[in-house]
Amino acid sequence: MKFPYAGNALKDFFSKPSTERYPKVKKEAPKGYRGKISYDPEKCIACGMCIRVCSPGAITMTKGEKNDEGQLIEMKFNLNSCTFCQMCADFCPRGAIKLTTQYSMIATDKNELVVSGSFIKKIPPKPTVKTVQQSKAKTEASGSK
Ligand code: SF4
Ligand code: SF4
Repeated sequence: MKFPYAGNALKDFFSKPSTERYPKVKKEAPKGYRGKISYDPEKCIACGMCIRVCSPGAITMTKGEKNDEGQLIEMKFNLNSCTFCQMCADFCPRGAIKLTTQYSMIATDKNELVVSGSFIKKIPPKPTVKTVQQSKAKTEASGSK
C-alpha cells in the first residue's frame, strides 16, 4: 500500500504554519485602519454635524433639561450599525471623534458595542438691555471711523 502524501504530511507537521497565528499572536492594524470609534466629550460642542453626515444613522444625541449649570448632552455611537466610513471624524470641527486601529470588537451583548460620552454644554447668559446698548454703541463707534 502506497501513501503518496505521507512525506509532505510529515514535513508540514514539523514546519511552521503558513497562516497567521491570530489570536495567539496579535497583529497591529495597518496605518490608517478605520476601527473602533473613540469619542472625546471634552472637545465636543454638540453641533450635530457628525449626526448629519452619518448615513446609517449610527449616532444619536440626547439633550437633557437646561438649568443654571447648562445642559447635559449625551452622544452615542452605535457600532452595531456603523460602517466605519469615517465621515463623522472627517466632518467634526473639533476633532472629537477618531477611528482607532482597534479591530477586535467581539461582544455577546450589543450594548458593549456602543461608544458614548457626555458633557455639560454651557449656555451663554441672556443679553441684558445694558449689554445690548453697549454692543450697539460699540458698533456705531467703529462704523463712524
Ligand atoms: S464612521 Fe461612518 S457610519 Fe460610523 S458613526 Fe461615523 S459616520 Fe456613522
Ligand atoms: S462630535 Fe464633533 S461633529 Fe459631533 S456633535 Fe460633537 S463637535 Fe459636533
